[in-house]
This record gives sequence, C-alpha cells and structure tokens, in this order.
Amino acid sequence: MLKDSDFISSSKVPGPTKEEIRCLVMCKSNVKSTDTVLEIGCGTGGLTLEFARRCEKVYSIDKNHDAISLTSQNLKKHFLDDKVDLIEGDALSIINQIDSFDILMIGGSGGDLSEILEKFSEKISNKKKIIITAILIETKTEAINTLKKLGFEIEVVEVNIARGHILNRGTMMFAENPIAIIYTV
Ligand code: SAH
Repeated sequence: MLKDSDFISSSKVPGPTKEEIRCLVMCKSNVKSTDTVLEIGCGTGGLTLEFARRCEKVYSIDKNHDAISLTSQNLKKHFLDDKVDLIEGDALSIINQIDSFDILMIGGSGGDLSEILEKFSEKISNKKKIIITAILIETKTEAINTLKKLGFEIEVVEVNIARGHILNRGTMMFAENPIAIIYTV
C-alpha cells in the first residue's frame, strides 16, 4: 500500500484517500489482475494508483481539470501511467465513451449519484462489483437506497480511523473523518 506522503497533493484537489481506507477499499473490491476498473472522481489519484498496481486497466474520470493533471503526475511518479486512461469530464457526459468494465468505483458524484448508478450499472460485466466511498450522510443514504432499488445485494462499513502521534509524554490519537464504504456482494 502506498503511503499518503507518496502522493503529490494540492489544496485545489481532494485526496488522497487515507492509506487505511485505501486498504479497505482494495480488500472489499476483491480486484484481480485481469480486471478493468472504471473510477468516477479520481481526485488526487489515491484509489486510481492502488487499482492500477493490482489490475489490468483503469479508466479514471474527473470533471476537475486540476484533478486529472494531479492524478497524471502521481501516475508518472510511480510509473503506472501506461495502466490508466484519464478522462476529463462529467461522468454523465462521457458515458458513451465507456464500454464494459468489471469494477465501478465511485469516489465523487457531485449530486448525481443515483443517475450515475442507474446509467453505469447497465455497462458493468457480470461480476457486478460496485464500490462507493461516501462522507456526506446524504450520499450514504442515496447510495444504499439506489443500489437496493436497482436490485443489488449490498454491504456497508463505516470506519473512524484514529492515527497515533508519538509525543514525548506518550501517544496521542488524532481522529480522521468517518467514511462509509458501500459495496455490492
Ligand atoms: N478518491 C480520490 C479523491 C476523490 S475526491 C483520491 O483518493 O484521491 C472526489 C472527486 O470527484 C473530485 O475530484 C471531483 O472533482 C470528482 N467528481 C465529483 N462529481 C463528479 C462527476 N459527476 N463526474 C466526474 N467527477 C466528479
């Protein structure tokens, strides 16, 4: 697993997803070396790079030009750029450019989560693995409700990571934001 400090980051782009969360997403995705992954909302590339290290091909979409450029820098830094096609644009506007894939990873949806799930889940191969990371309560609820409505069986985990900072007097725990991982089984 890459360290958070292995990523070039920017105040203009969210991410990278914290290392412990990346661990969980990789584990729950069950990603295989032959898989093709479609990621919506690559941000800094935290999850893009982890998938690229483990699968055959990644298509990563982001509507923010700075996110595409930052993910590209991070891919080059780790010699993974040949594994990933970066696509700048809103997910719903580029849907026709995408054929089939094995894993759909959604790390950002900009309020269009239900529509994205409805349209993209039709294109997923029969492995039907969808993973959503959500911070907003509304996104968590929308993800769960939409996946259920579309007939998927799902599991949900929410994690509150606290990291220890070693100080002279002892170890002080600093909490990260809670994040939910919602995925089909
Ligand atoms: N998982 C990433 C961080 C994702 S932040 C990492 O580890 O680095 C969420 C990203 O989703 C943002 O960069 C935002 O621009 C993008 N995004 C939000 N809605 C989108 C949409 N509808 N289409 C494409 N990208 C979107």
